[in-house]
Amino acid sequence: MKFTEFGFDGRLMEGIEASNYEDATPVQQQVIPLILKGKDIIASAQTGTGKTAAFLLPLINRIITEHTDGITITVLVIVPTRELAIQIAQHLEGLSYFTSISSIAVFGGGDGNAFVQEKKALSMGADIVVCTPGKMMSHIKMGYVKLDNLKYLVLDEADRMLDMGFFDDIMFIIKHLPAKRQNLLFSATMPPKIRQLARSILHEPAEINISISKPPEKIIQQAYMVYDAQKIPLILHLLKENNFKTVLIFCSSKLNVKALTRDLKRNGIKAGEIHSDLEQESREDILIQYKSGRLPVLVATDILSRGIDIDNIDLVINFDVPHDGEDYVHRIGRTARAEADGTAFTLVSVKEQRKFLAIEKLLEKVVQKMPLPEAFGEQPSYNPIFEKRGGGKKKSFQHRGVRNK
Ligand code: AMP
Repeated sequence: MKFTEFGFDGRLMEGIEASNYEDATPVQQQVIPLILKGKDIIASAQTGTGKTAAFLLPLINRIITEHTDGITITVLVIVPTRELAIQIAQHLEGLSYFTSISSIAVFGGGDGNAFVQEKKALSMGADIVVCTPGKMMSHIKMGYVKLDNLKYLVLDEADRMLDMGFFDDIMFIIKHLPAKRQNLLFSATMPPKIRQLARSILHEPAEINISISKPPEKIIQQAYMVYDAQKIPLILHLLKENNFKTVLIFCSSKLNVKALTRDLKRNGIKAGEIHSDLEQESREDILIQYKSGRLPVLVATDILSRGIDIDNIDLVINFDVPHDGEDYVHRIGRTARAEADGTAFTLVSVKEQRKFLAIEKLLEKVVQKMPLPEAFGEQPSYNPIFEKRGGGKKKSFQHRGVRNK
């Protein structure tokens, strides 16, 4: 489905085109028309499905066409973490670039100075505020946040917010919103407590379920907790100790692909690399060598995770944890195709543990954690800590006065 079919305002279409979006994703196809109609929504959709644009686009369109004043807050988007707040604010800035919409991101952490800046921005107001719950609650308590004309409330990654203990903060904020408003709730999972939250704040919601496919059960999935410096030695060890014939190793960046391939070759392992810096001809040549068995190990970025047609890969290694669950499923799905069995190892550094936990939750599967061989020395334990509320590093404020650009 093309974006032109939604009847969006021309200025918004320019932002969509500039973002290089052509077809709407499944979640966008389902959610956008309902939001435009004014329906409340409860959607189970994970990161990577295009869910952010699914709510931003219709809301931007409504703001443009309803001619808001840009001073009182029309849309409040509540999210669990500062990273997500920043990401959504950037997404918003891209999509609304050709409009006169104003937005603010308000998120936890930071010093007193940041709070003062946030206070100033919130007192000035904006069409859209993207916030974390604790920080927004503190501002509301101070009395300068103008919520009387709010029309749309979005709760994004609601399950994660509840896991992080934000229920009371969210309810506090909601008590300060006008009763007549449109509510949109997005959550990767739908445990009973999310249904309960939904019942208390949504009005006759439309329910949308975009679930990702799960990897075949027959794939043996294992994970190694490692320090960064242990990753390459562990890969060398795994390749030398096991008798895998066709191995595909995924890295999230071209740099890692290049560095790892170089180290494999230095250690006498026949390995090829595939990434976007290579000409199509070289990529095809390497794939032919790999498919024929002349090249047993291929190191690649995610460009190879979807749609490649190689049936006999017996081991997939994630050199780093993929960005989201969908990428994980696509990557490990390269093994155990057709009748074959397959194995997938994921190397998880300390800072990737949280991402890995999110993948396990999404797949509703606890991946077996493997001990490192003794010669590797100490191994980090698996202790994925969710970002602490309110605390943490510096800086907490961005004010995007994108009016009159
Ligand atoms: P999200 O699930 O919202 O985190 O989005 C995942 C990624 O998909 C983001 O980088 C978006 O910019 C991108 N994206 C969202 N919608 C589309 C679309 N219709 N076409 C192409 N990319 C998209």
